[in-house]
Amino acid sequence: MGMNLTSPSQVKAWCIEHDFHPNRTLGQNFLIDRNALVAIVDAGLADCPDAGGAQVLEIGPGLGVLTEEMLSRGCSVTAVEKDPVLAERLAASLGSPANLTVVAGDALDFIADDRPPAEGRGPREFTHMISNLPYQAGTRILLELVLKRALPSMTVLVQAEVADRLAAKEGSKTRGLAGVWAQLDYDVKLVRKVAASCFWPRPAVGSTVVTLTRHDRNIALSAEERAFFHRLTKQAFEHRRKQLGSIFKDMIKSSARAEELSNEDWITLAKGLLNENA
Ligand code: SAH
Repeated sequence: MGMNLTSPSQVKAWCIEHDFHPNRTLGQNFLIDRNALVAIVDAGLADCPDAGGAQVLEIGPGLGVLTEEMLSRGCSVTAVEKDPVLAERLAASLGSPANLTVVAGDALDFIADDRPPAEGRGPREFTHMISNLPYQAGTRILLELVLKRALPSMTVLVQAEVADRLAAKEGSKTRGLAGVWAQLDYDVKLVRKVAASCFWPRPAVGSTVVTLTRHDRNIALSAEERAFFHRLTKQAFEHRRKQLGSIFKDMIKSSARAEELSNEDWITLAKGLLNENA
């Protein structure tokens, strides 16, 4: 109780006392920097002047450094933690507040839950996702949420290179599937960098705070068009160095490469090919 979670010495002391060894496979790099912590939560709630109305999903709360800050601002938080030891201690360590729900389990299972909000848990009941995502599973977790279009606003701390890929526009070297898929329904904004020294244990690379805000520019796409958009872009980026005309043979006459097309181009292409094959 009462541990200062942005004090490296207190966090380390807690780990020693409880014989807890941060688990690399679970991407356990705890945030220990107060400025970065405040910046993430500020960015996450920027669209929400009344934090008391925010229903926040947090994935990988760890020792609860973000959780504690969000609760102190009045948010309701549901925190999904895979490590049973951390999940078990979280609520009590924060004083068991009524607006905190802890779910012990894998975030991917939680996200896969498709029940409508009225029937209980699932990603659709939240207004915001704010998380320092685990390194290994971070991209996968984020893309699953993106594909569901479940949340209006998602602010995450991810490795800098993952952030760059999410935000990459056509023509950029880091343009790939993650960016194309994320941007289909979200505007991606790089908020600020967070140095590797802000985490313990210290990771090999720096991180970036990214905000994804859901937009409705492609809301009219049918389920079939969406599915085809995903198939088409997946195939194209598996051969990103090749000209599109050679990947899709006679379907497309083009010398362009996958990374050069904008999402509008992909949508036009997907719709056109769907109609041609209909
Ligand atoms: N938010 C904390 C911890 C970040 S470390 C902080 O900023 O300090 C990442 C956290 O995600 C760890 O607590 C790890 O146990 C948890 N985690 C890893 N994989 C997960 C998964 N698939 N689902 C839910 N939590 C996961």
